Amino acid sequence: MSYATNVIIIAVDTLRADHLGCYGYPRNTSPNIDQFAEDGVKFTRCFTPSPLTTPAFASMLSSLPPYKHGAKRNGMSVFDRVKILPQYLRKHGYYSGAFISNWTLKKDLTLLNRGFDTYTEVFNKRRWFGMVSAEGDAKKVNEVALRWIYNNSKRKFFIWIHYTDPHDPYVYHKEFDNGYKEVIPEAYPEGSDFKKIRKYDTEIGYTDQYIGELIKRIKELNLYDDSLIIFMADHGESFGEHDYYGHGRRLYNSGLHVPLIVKLPGNINDHTVIERNVSILDIAPTILSQLEIPVPEDMVGDNLFNPKIDKRVLYFETYKGAVHQDRGKKFHLKVEPVRYGLLKDNMKMIYDNGFESYNIQKDWFESTNVYKNPNGESAVLSDLLNEFIAKVKEFIEYSKKYFKQKSDLTEEDIEKLKSLGYIKK
Ligand SMILES: [Zn+2]
Repeated sequence: MSYATNVIIIAVDTLRADHLGCYGYPRNTSPNIDQFAEDGVKFTRCFTPSPLTTPAFASMLSSLPPYKHGAKRNGMSVFDRVKILPQYLRKHGYYSGAFISNWTLKKDLTLLNRGFDTYTEVFNKRRWFGMVSAEGDAKKVNEVALRWIYNNSKRKFFIWIHYTDPHDPYVYHKEFDNGYKEVIPEAYPEGSDFKKIRKYDTEIGYTDQYIGELIKRIKELNLYDDSLIIFMADHGESFGEHDYYGHGRRLYNSGLHVPLIVKLPGNINDHTVIERNVSILDIAPTILSQLEIPVPEDMVGDNLFNPKIDKRVLYFETYKGAVHQDRGKKFHLKVEPVRYGLLKDNMKMIYDNGFESYNIQKDWFESTNVYKNPNGESAVLSDLLNEFIAKVKEFIEYSKKYFKQKSDLTEEDIEKLKSLGYIKK
């Protein structure tokens, strides 16, 4: 790998993979992302370990599942002992910048700024009727991120750019309302709310326009070809399927399945599609492997290009939304998952006061529970899931000794988390 490989993560909050053209969506929501995908390797089965913003991004940066990194709910921070990607890159001469646009990623809440030379919080946009700005829009994110890229274009850098526009409540962008009449109800899970989907899709179009602008500028600065560029999302979104809206507490594919496109330096392996089950936990080990930096042993993910990972089992956990009360050791320690899940080959299993199982090859939207108690493959999977549940509980007990958290949420934090919909008003 060349000495000057820059690393760029383009992250879109709340972006369902199956609403992008390059993932087969019938509407033209994402012409720029689709074009970028042509230059890279597209992973068709990437999942988040937990469908909530802070836990998922902390997992992306640490390659640890939420129960291990500690930021289990929005408003919670990673444990002091947790190391994240920019800390490893710094040792190898990288200068790092983060540009985040959702209040839940604020450094004072998450402590995810460790190792970043710049951690810029872009909050220029109000949500609902909130008095405070809790989000940044894609236009503003580009403005600050592109300035940083321009100023650091002679350095070896890592940048994480985070857009949050598709997060609810969805703003309707008329100019991106393409092909609504082409909606094919059969292509959506049962119970989908098409009115919400229409608005949501225009938010994707809006974001896509700015991703196009970002990539164009990176090309103009002659930084595109040699860079390792990763496009991803933290989680998906539900629009009424399984009687659920939003994201965070359920473990169905609507919330767990995310896009992942990896453009390698020199655009090698362009136009490649990889169908193995992978996770956003694999992003940090892949970046380190590509840069020929040793992958720390405690990272649970693996290099995405290692074919041995085909046989892995992926595990999922989900918690209640945001923390909104006084934090402290006692509270932190009782934060346990509300649901658990796993994926082995095509078989998904969820524990939600009982087991559910789905063959996602045949039934991607998980409408038919095929769990049969207690024999055959169902028994193998339920045993594996029970082992995982026991391991998580044991680790949460063990992690008591890691506890050393920052101060409580401020009034302002609480108001902003409310405006993002994470706290019931
Ligand atoms: Zn999110």
